[in-house]
Amino acid sequence: MEAIPFAIPYIKPLKFASGEVHVAEHVLVRVHTDDGVVGVAEAPPRPFTYGETQDGIISVVEKIFAPQVIGLTLLEREVIGARVARTVGNPTAKAALDMAIWDALGKTLGLPVTDLLGGYTDRMRVSHMLGFDDPATMVAEAQKMRDTYGISTFKVKVGRRPVGLDIAVVRALRNHFGDDVELYVDGNRGWTAAESARAMREMDDLGLLFAEELCPADDVLGRRWLVGQIDVPFIADESVPTAADVTREILSGSATAISIKTARTGFTGSRRIHHLAEGLGLEIVIGNQIDGQVGTACALAFGAAFQTTSRYAGELSNFLDMSDDLLATPLQIRDGFLHRSSRAGIGFEIDPDKLDHYRQDR
Ligand SMILES: [Mg+2]
Repeated sequence: MEAIPFAIPYIKPLKFASGEVHVAEHVLVRVHTDDGVVGVAEAPPRPFTYGETQDGIISVVEKIFAPQVIGLTLLEREVIGARVARTVGNPTAKAALDMAIWDALGKTLGLPVTDLLGGYTDRMRVSHMLGFDDPATMVAEAQKMRDTYGISTFKVKVGRRPVGLDIAVVRALRNHFGDDVELYVDGNRGWTAAESARAMREMDDLGLLFAEELCPADDVLGRRWLVGQIDVPFIADESVPTAADVTREILSGSATAISIKTARTGFTGSRRIHHLAEGLGLEIVIGNQIDGQVGTACALAFGAAFQTTSRYAGELSNFLDMSDDLLATPLQIRDGFLHRSSRAGIGFEIDPDKLDHYRQDR
């Protein structure tokens, strides 16, 4: 097992209520089997969401996970999962290991991971995330994404000032595009419950698809009060990193829909959460952990596997803000869609020269 740190600068930093990202300082996790197959995935450290750092991910993979996992086979994924679960936290490190193992399994069997998981469709509609800026710049960014990539679903980051800024952005987008686009908002816990309730009332005429994590789930009663009065699905994202969290938040009335992120629950954990959500009758959105192309290919491979995960546009475009990436064949968004690979495994290949250039351990 290898954990390789790499850094790729963003062309345009992404800013949101809980943080901002200027450089993708991720960790590439590779697993090698005895018969020479290499499985690959990436872990994005998000200290503002999960408390993980690049150094911490490398350390937990090399010092704790590797001794527990080396020697097991690719078919013992539940054993691997149980051993890794003894370590608290570290969601993206665990997820990257899980997905690298699935990648190796798919390559060993000569089958795409999407087909192994469920094989529902060959494509996902793409939603683009609009980070903080002034209203005119955010409208211009959305127009560029529509013109260049055919994207017509936008997630608008809110959670600054509701009146006079956040609401103005959403209204400017609706005025500019009319009914041609789908819009939803993500507060990253930046508003209070009362601010959220007022903002949602003021945006009542804007036809929002969803509202996501507008206020903190830790504001237990405030959040329940808010979710009970708004009439669009309320997505829990960073408040539901595990299946148990999904159960707790949904049954307590603190959310009515969920975001699944393969970056934090891998394929094995995401599949469990998907089945749970299906049983509970929840809407699912495939979310983005500000993934690069490796992480986006993982989210796409999972989202395309099931009906409920491919129904809405998935957040699969953040890699467009990065100056470069590691894939030999870059992902291409066309007419608003990303098509999943038909190759074995997750379906991408790392360009060795690019990895040499961006890795930070040599
Ligand atoms: Mg979110």
